[in-house]
Amino acid sequence: MVSYKELGLVNTREMFAKAIKGGYAIPAFNFNNMEQLQAIIKASAETKSPVILQVSKGARNYANQTLLRYMAQGAVEYAKELGWEHPQICLHLDHGDSFELCKSCVDFGFSSVMIDASSLPYEENIALTKKVVDYAHQYDVTVEAELGVLAGVEDEVSSAVSHYTKPEEVVDFATRTGCDSLAISIGTSHGAYKFTPEQCTRDPKTGKLVPPPLAFDVLDAIMEQLPGFPIVLHGSSSVPQEYVDMINMYGGKLPDAVGIPEEQLRKAAASAVCKINIDSDSRLAFTAAVRKVFAEKPGEFDPRKYCGPARDLMEELYKHKIINVLGSNGKAE
Ligand SMILES: [Zn+2]
Repeated sequence: MVSYKELGLVNTREMFAKAIKGGYAIPAFNFNNMEQLQAIIKASAETKSPVILQVSKGARNYANQTLLRYMAQGAVEYAKELGWEHPQICLHLDHGDSFELCKSCVDFGFSSVMIDASSLPYEENIALTKKVVDYAHQYDVTVEAELGVLAGVEDEVSSAVSHYTKPEEVVDFATRTGCDSLAISIGTSHGAYKFTPEQCTRDPKTGKLVPPPLAFDVLDAIMEQLPGFPIVLHGSSSVPQEYVDMINMYGGKLPDAVGIPEEQLRKAAASAVCKINIDSDSRLAFTAAVRKVFAEKPGEFDPRKYCGPARDLMEELYKHKIINVLGSNGKAE
């Protein structure tokens, strides 16, 4: 048993309370490798933003769970070395799909876990979520639950269609499970293809796809039911066109990739939405930078020469999100 407190990590409770009060959101960035983690920590340390490091089941399988945990521990020390006196870093399991997986993360130094039982029938979702909450809270680990279904594909999580969260269910769900935060479905979606071209309109000037707006009426109704309760948005990458263009220009093929416009995320961040998950955007930045180096310098074979630029571009992206979209800069001095 390793307590996250010994690792210098924090859970989400205080982070979220402050974020809701202050009208901003905490970035939740997924990481799978060293470069991504370096970029996240540098961006957070330089902007003094609290940050949630997310590990998915896929990341645990890819990078090894033990190594990931030590990397998160190293991240705290790295942040201090960068001059961030009191780093507020949370290590969070993204889309836990079983009690056993969540328990293993709690036992292994995570400060927060998500149990995603949203694909189960309502009562089963409640039962499984409550079981995880009862276990995690013994160790002061916070729990994110999900109600409603997001469309899209992310690691092992996938669904063809989305079902918006039903506002009439949220009070019963939050009360009976005791969860600390709730991921909802209001039209965000996993992956770099959040909407089909048929779901979008086209900007007559640029010919680019314009996605349908998020269901802010559903968010408002949820906030009315659960005033001040921490709300989470998954699948909230914006799929920056500059990265998609770079990838396509340098030999990639991502036709009609489309994400959530940043002005909609800014609006959400100002509400009770206090955690916004961003994964695809950093994948795009990484890939765009690597493709550029490969295209321009075909003789290059030192991974540092293409992973380095990828890391720089991700850092730039994370800083942009923190400062211009989520507003979490300067909230963790
Ligand atoms: Zn997700």
